Amino acid sequence: MVDNGIEQSQAATEPRRKRIPKTIAVIHADYCTGCEACIAVCPVDCIALLETNLRVKGVDAWCEVDLDRCIGCGFCVRVPKKRDDPYELKICPWDAIEMVPAELLPQAITKIGGPASYAAENQPRLLAAAQRVAAARAAQ
Ligand code: SF4
Ligand code: SF4
Repeated sequence: MVDNGIEQSQAATEPRRKRIPKTIAVIHADYCTGCEACIAVCPVDCIALLETNLRVKGVDAWCEVDLDRCIGCGFCVRVPKKRDDPYELKICPWDAIEMVPAELLPQAITKIGGPASYAAENQPRLLAAAQRVAAARAAQ
């Protein structure tokens, strides 16, 4: 019988899929307005809208990518153009999304910003995911 603690620590370090993409989308919460344009185009539905109630100042909204599920397609950044098409359509109006090499995710995830309470509560979880994905990519 496997001890629960061991199961949990394995879950934190083991990759959740066999192949890790070359790049993964990271959303900079400080630039994101929560417009949801990226959510609408993501083919694997791995972008979540987060909100915090600012009481009299309204609601602060931003998005977060599930690093374990992003397939690195880049559709949330721009619509892929055909070879003979001079135009490309940017999806994020605020350039809040960065395609980050998987090995560099831990560094990138420490700079996403966002409300102080969000950063304080979620940095350990996001950093663990970033380190897990980066390690799995490096091992490929
Ligand atoms: S890169 Fe592709 S899979 Fe990843 S968040 Fe953007 S649209 Fe979704
Ligand atoms: S498209 Fe850009 S601004 Fe809009 S929700 Fe996505 S990351 Fe945020």
